[in-house]
Amino acid sequence: MKNLFIWMGSIIGIIIIIPMILIQSCDIQKSPVQKTKQKILKNDQKVHVYLQNQKKVQTLDLEEYVKGVISGEMPATFEMEALKAQAVAARSYAVSRINAYKKNGNQVHPKAELCDTVHCQVWLSKEKLTEIKSEQWMNNYWPRIEEAVEKTSSMIMTYEDNPIDQPLFHSTSGGKTENSEDVFTAWVPYLRSVESPYEKDAPHFTDDETISISDFINKIKQKYNDCTIDPAKISTDIAIVERSEGGRILKIKVGNKTLKGREIRELFGLRSANFKIDIQGDQVKFTTVGYGHGVGMSQWGANGMAKEGHSFEEILKHYYVGVEIEKMK
Ligand SMILES: [Zn+2]
Repeated sequence: MKNLFIWMGSIIGIIIIIPMILIQSCDIQKSPVQKTKQKILKNDQKVHVYLQNQKKVQTLDLEEYVKGVISGEMPATFEMEALKAQAVAARSYAVSRINAYKKNGNQVHPKAELCDTVHCQVWLSKEKLTEIKSEQWMNNYWPRIEEAVEKTSSMIMTYEDNPIDQPLFHSTSGGKTENSEDVFTAWVPYLRSVESPYEKDAPHFTDDETISISDFINKIKQKYNDCTIDPAKISTDIAIVERSEGGRILKIKVGNKTLKGREIRELFGLRSANFKIDIQGDQVKFTTVGYGHGVGMSQWGANGMAKEGHSFEEILKHYYVGVEIEKMK
């Protein structure tokens, strides 16, 4: 159970918090594509990781660092090609942070390019993984993590010769991923809406959430106190106004207010902003499709593609449009 909470905590961090921090902290709206070619790092790169709890900096080989990241990001039971795709995504993010650090440092942890929390990417040492997962897990699954990292050694994704700085991913798209600007604010050239056809095994492809009409209205009014909504007319007082290309709700009318789908998702703790609402008696029923923000690689979609025989390169090039996979020299 403890493992499950830790895993879920990491996933929530990865799916919700990291992308928000990334998108908010990067001024990519003004210049979505960096004009100057960044130096692609050498593959013997060391990374400095600020350990938030111990308040100290640990120096690691980049490849060792990547192993400690993917073990917290994706179930180690996933297909090898999906794990390899995740390894390249984690390495790409690390390299972009190293480049950014060289240019501007890092205000949150000035002595290191990266930290071990969701602020950057969750990183877990082997000792910590043994404690959290178990000795048995280390024996059975750690070798798979090592294999995924070693077989993609020094590979990163680039876009127009620059390492990509937003290899965003999420659990389950629900059949189609999202354009970055429909979920966050910034348009990113490689974060485009694409089909994600092999997600049928995902545990949260669809989900239901039910709440009483009175609780629904109370929650809305607590957050938006000028909202007027008539319980007797609730089925006409709620209307979906606009959906994104990927299916998530952009605008929804609730009483006299027009809200973002994301606001409703956050308010009611829904798995996705791709949902429909049905009124059943005195209940409001949400049916969600997908799990997470929907931008970039769908992890369950990646696993499904791997099961269909696709390589990690094919998976990455499918979910990150126009990228190349390059080996650091
Ligand atoms: Zn950090």
